[in-house]
Amino acid sequence: MAQAWTAVCLTLFPDLFPGPLETSVTGSALQKGLWDLKTLNLRDYAQDKHRSVDDTPAGGGAGMVMRADIAAKAIDAGLKLVPDARRIYLSPRGRPFCQEMAHDLSQSNGVLLLCGRFEGIDERLIEARQLEEVSIGDFVMTGGEMAAYCLLDSVVRLRAGVLGSAQSLEQESFEDGLLEHPHYTKPREFEGCTIPDVLLEGNHAKIAKWRKEQSQRLTQQRRPDLWERFRTKS
Ligand code: SAH
Repeated sequence: MAQAWTAVCLTLFPDLFPGPLETSVTGSALQKGLWDLKTLNLRDYAQDKHRSVDDTPAGGGAGMVMRADIAAKAIDAGLKLVPDARRIYLSPRGRPFCQEMAHDLSQSNGVLLLCGRFEGIDERLIEARQLEEVSIGDFVMTGGEMAAYCLLDSVVRLRAGVLGSAQSLEQESFEDGLLEHPHYTKPREFEGCTIPDVLLEGNHAKIAKWRKEQSQRLTQQRRPDLWERFRTKS
């Protein structure tokens, strides 16, 4: 059988994996072999007796920098596990992650995710191993592991067989460039608020129209950037 879509995480904290990915949808998919997760401890590639992976920044300044030579060995070991993996360095300087990138990665054979710590990694590694830098948002965390969770969760759920209903994927936020419409369920009345009548009348064409309008209204209000792109595209 062909190898399942595989993520190789390179980290100083291997105990953090699978972490939340072991739970619920991504966890049962992992158990069923719909995807695979391998974790490599960067420290295993260190050479000194302290197993150090970082050093002081050239040129001075605060913090420590992860060494290129050690991480390069870990990447090369990771590439043996998934030879044609997309090589990603999770970094706040990277290209902002989005649903389109999640789709793109879900069609690949797998990913190799380098989780940084400290001030980040020696720049030469990024060039030498041609890493794509990917950010999960304009904020700074202490490490790349939680960014890896976000990326993997969003990619794995797009893989065939992971989610129950393919339709639930199609109608989601970002799939058509818009935010999703509001949802309601029982009870019919909650703290004096009712469900919009249109959703209870059973007219499916009317419901679809209402949802589309709501989705456009929300996008316009909350995400003028997405709205602008949607308007110029359609
Ligand atoms: N000095 C760096 C930040 C280092 S944060 C800078 O200013 O750009 C330490 C590590 O956390 C990074 O190497 C990266 O792997 C991870 N990280 C922090 N914020 C992130 C984000 N928004 N997206 C992806 N990874 C992030």
